Amino acid sequence: MVNFLVFGPPGSGKGTQSVQLAERFNLVHLSTGDMLRDEIGAATDLGERVKSIMAAGELVPDDIVIAMIASRIDSRGDAAGFIFDGFPRTCDQAMALDRMLADRSALINLMLVLEVEHEELVRRLLSRAEVSGRADDANREVIERRIEVYMEKTEPVAQYYRKLKKYRAINGMGDISDIFERLSVAVKEFI
Ligand code: ADP
Repeated sequence: MVNFLVFGPPGSGKGTQSVQLAERFNLVHLSTGDMLRDEIGAATDLGERVKSIMAAGELVPDDIVIAMIASRIDSRGDAAGFIFDGFPRTCDQAMALDRMLADRSALINLMLVLEVEHEELVRRLLSRAEVSGRADDANREVIERRIEVYMEKTEPVAQYYRKLKKYRAINGMGDISDIFERLSVAVKEFI
């Protein structure tokens, strides 16, 4: 199994690039944001619980996202590997993920960190708001809060993998296809 984290602030292109990487390298794409939005869409109890948290740009509690990821990993034991998108977002999530993978004699092979300038992030998210219908894209205040939460709680996760020598910065500015090529070059080293 080969496993990758696609990491970066909101608007850095994690979702777009993860879908394409999963397809090209035959990996299973796991996005906690998509899973949570599915729960909201299906109006489950969990969806009702997380709706206002997400709309405010805050993080959903660790136990919820850790349980969601654990069940997906369990149900896809046949996978050649996973692309984790939007998870882990806290150091506790990172440690839980490492334990889950270790139980399956697997590990995170590489963290791909998309680097994008702040103004470009805000511009992308505001323009996505017009098509995504996502409550958390709708206004500048929530977008700025999400970026702030990233800097405070999620950026330390990058330091965790940096210490493990698994950190790879990728220029996330420019054409989607050029960024995809940069990511693919890094992934190929492990496949
Ligand atoms: P983005 O990276 O653009 O914010 P995501 O779809 O990854 O988009 O996340 C949207 C929201 O879903 C987050 O702001 C947060 O509220 C929630 N979320 C997603 N993944 C996690 C996670 N691993 N831990 C906590 N909250 C999460």
